[in-house]
Parts: sequence; C-alpha cells; structure tokens
Amino acid sequence: MGFLDFLVPVVMIAGTVAFMEWFAAWSHEHIMHGWGWGWHKSHHEPHEGGLELNDLYAVVFACFAIGLFYVGSFYWQPLLWIAIGITIYGFLYFFFHDGLVHQRWPFKYIPRKGYLKRVYQAHRLHHAVKGKEGCVSFGFVYAEPVDKLVKKLDNQPKPYDKTAHLDDDERPALH
Ligand SMILES: [Zn+2]
Ligand SMILES: [Zn+2]
Repeated sequence: MGFLDFLVPVVMIAGTVAFMEWFAAWSHEHIMHGWGWGWHKSHHEPHEGGLELNDLYAVVFACFAIGLFYVGSFYWQPLLWIAIGITIYGFLYFFFHDGLVHQRWPFKYIPRKGYLKRVYQAHRLHHAVKGKEGCVSFGFVYAEPVDKLVKKLDNQPKPYDKTAHLDDDERPALH
C-alpha cells in the first residue's frame, strides 16, 4: 500500500468533517430556522426530557450516511470516505450539542475554560432569543467569540436573555 492510498482517505474524511460543520451551520440557519422550522421548533421550546421532533434531522443525516456506506462499499470507494466523515461529524454533533450544551447524557459536566466553554456559551446564546428569527451562532463545532455574539444579539430588534450563556452558578442573583 502506497502513501497516497493512505493520504487520500485521510484528506477526504477530514475534508468531509470540515464541510459538514459548514453545511450543518448553513442548514441550521437557512433550513431549520426557515422552511424546516416545523421540526426544529421542538428544540427551541422547553419540554420534559425525551425525544424531540428535531431529532428527525439527525435521523435523516444518518440515513443518508448509511446509503453512502452501502454505495461506497459495493460500487465506488470514495463515497465510503465521505460516509465515514459524515458519521464522525454526527458523533461530534452529539458530543457538543446534545451532550455538552444540552446535557442529554446521564452526568453533568459544564466546561469552565477554553474552546469547550466557548462552544458551550455560543450555543446557549443561540437559544437566548425566543422563536425562529433573530438567533445567532448556528454552528456546532466552531463558534465565534462570545462577545461578538453578544454584540450581534444587541444589534437585532428582539429581546433576549442576557444571561443565557452563563451557567446557573455564574448568574447574578435575582432580586
Ligand atoms: Zn436553532
Ligand atoms: Zn440546541
């Protein structure tokens, strides 16, 4: 096996993961907060645990990846690398969005510093505005600096929760 036999799959898998972050952010902004709001709405409303209609988006992506695994395994191998990239991105999405931010796993871990804290706070700010319009930060793995996002929220007309990005013990006491 030559070096290229190794390099091509690695570059294709890494490229697909990077592309998926762009595509996820784009579709979150333009589809889920657009004509696809019907499913995504469930994720922006308070509810008691369990599944959300919004989880169907993950199912759609998973079905697409399974299809690519099939075609890639039997007909055209490059599609296999793309399928692996999409699957890796799926795990990243579950780890960051469902796990880290929304705590849908059976333990509590709130990141206190660095990149993880920034991703966590950025997505909390995504949920700071009620409803479909006026939201910021649509990505899941990459996040803009938190002060930039707060500025964007200040520059849109809707009211928003100014403490959304803070964890419970960092909020100013209510009075
Ligand atoms: Zn959203
Ligand atoms: Zn969310």
